[in-house]
Amino acid sequence: MTDTEQVDIFVIGGGINGASVARDAVGRGYSVALAEMNDLASGTSSAATKLVHGGLRYLEHYEFRLVQEALSEREVLWAEAPHLIKALRFVLPHHKGLRPAFILRTGLAMYDYMGGRRLLPPTKTLDLTRHEAGKPLKPGYRLGFEYSDCWVDDARFVVLNARDAADRGAKVHVRTKVTSVRREEGGWRVELDGEAGRQVIKARLVVNAAGPWVDDVITGAMGKNGARNVRLVKGSHLVVRKLYDHDRCYMFQNSDGRIIFAIPYEDEFTLIGTTDEDYQGDPKDVAISDKETDYLLGAASEYFAKPVTRDQIHWTYSGVRPLFDDGASAAQEATRDYVLKVDGDAATGAAVNVFGGKLTTSRRLAESVMEKIEAVLGKKGAAWTKGSRLPGGEFEPLAFDAEARRLAMDYPWLPTATVRRLLRLYGTKARVMLGDAKTVADLGQHFGADLYAREVVYLVEEEWARTAQDVLWRRTKLGLRVNAEDVARLESYIGSRK
Ligand code: FAD
Repeated sequence: MTDTEQVDIFVIGGGINGASVARDAVGRGYSVALAEMNDLASGTSSAATKLVHGGLRYLEHYEFRLVQEALSEREVLWAEAPHLIKALRFVLPHHKGLRPAFILRTGLAMYDYMGGRRLLPPTKTLDLTRHEAGKPLKPGYRLGFEYSDCWVDDARFVVLNARDAADRGAKVHVRTKVTSVRREEGGWRVELDGEAGRQVIKARLVVNAAGPWVDDVITGAMGKNGARNVRLVKGSHLVVRKLYDHDRCYMFQNSDGRIIFAIPYEDEFTLIGTTDEDYQGDPKDVAISDKETDYLLGAASEYFAKPVTRDQIHWTYSGVRPLFDDGASAAQEATRDYVLKVDGDAATGAAVNVFGGKLTTSRRLAESVMEKIEAVLGKKGAAWTKGSRLPGGEFEPLAFDAEARRLAMDYPWLPTATVRRLLRLYGTKARVMLGDAKTVADLGQHFGADLYAREVVYLVEEEWARTAQDVLWRRTKLGLRVNAEDVARLESYIGSRK
């Protein structure tokens, strides 16, 4: 065991909250280390609906602070990562089971107004009998509302926050579990077990951003009694073959008052989700149940003219929301806002425990964590992430198509779909990844779909990918398009590089 490193801040968990805190903190001049026990974003942060949104339905629960903060983050994050984030239009078909149309219109006007919208188009009313958004729906829907929110590649959002943190000097340890966190000489002794074997790092302050495992870290690694701060709420999604041809999403409200989304996904698919169910098991074992599958198929089939059936399901995924337990009775009513709790102080060693949060509010959450940190460690640099860019995000939010044309001009032998896929994932770093390649042969071994060795090597060297799963399901979504043989070849290729 080595016993050398000393940092200001040690972050437990490489989900969006941990990665955002590490990035913000190192950018302000603190020394930072982060440990993630599996792959980055392998927890909740790759299992979201992937919306950067205010959360229209949270207005109904009077979560005005959250909605306001989340709405105003949409364009901030879009500018930070115009490759990972894109604007979407959502269609809400009206029917008599919903609130009266004028109330919905007023709610959407508030949504438009509260969000400090500059680039996103405003709400409008649709005649679904004429509009293309009405075509895939059952006959009878006449009135609809169309509003704006954004979409994010959740897993890549985490990885690029971690990449930027590392580029600024943070130490990122993946596949490294924090096994013990104990107070020592006014700070913390953090024990790690993982890729580099067993290690000890000393820290002045610890941030516990372990998501669904946040209470386990408190009771396990930190050795405290009975922490019960989070309520685990499972949410599942179905990925089916594309259900319709236009690029809008739908927000459907069901007879039980819950809502689901249908979202165009990875060109050839439609994403349907999500559910809200209290969850008691181990977060790592979370999986969709038959009941959830039936619920999602039934809810989508209530609206779409052609019923959505089990045989259309191509993939499913599930995740656990680590919501702060505010005592709400129904899972869907538990607050989506985040709560930060500080344990200890500068004299004893302080820990900031992070409960809840959303992808959308992760940058703001990190700023709030920094206020707690500054109160203990003293102030260093000023807040800086608003207006910053994530790696590869050096173009304007509305310039994606122009940027794709430029990339296609530089690599004219790449198929258009590949150019757009690479730009979505890597932004301007696509050029770093493609380098001097002049033909497809220069990209090396082929692993199915449009995945070649050059991209895999980039993901291993620059983005901490260690397995085929990391590459196929979190760094990319090519898992949707490759077969078992491709996966086996990829696994052995990555293994041979270790
Ligand atoms: P996680 O991503 O789970 O990260 C915690 C990490 O800590 C894990 O990777 C875990 O491996 C690691 N860890 C735990 N213990 C240890 C240890 N001892 N040592 C080292 N590492 C450890 N938000 C939105 O903004 N928009 C949405 O559309 C949206 N949809 C959602 C849909 C669903 C179904 C769900 C479940 C969530 C959704 N969210 C959405 C919320 C969002 O995904 C979460 O709030 C966010 O991902 C939580 O991130 P986190 O970093 O707290 O947790």
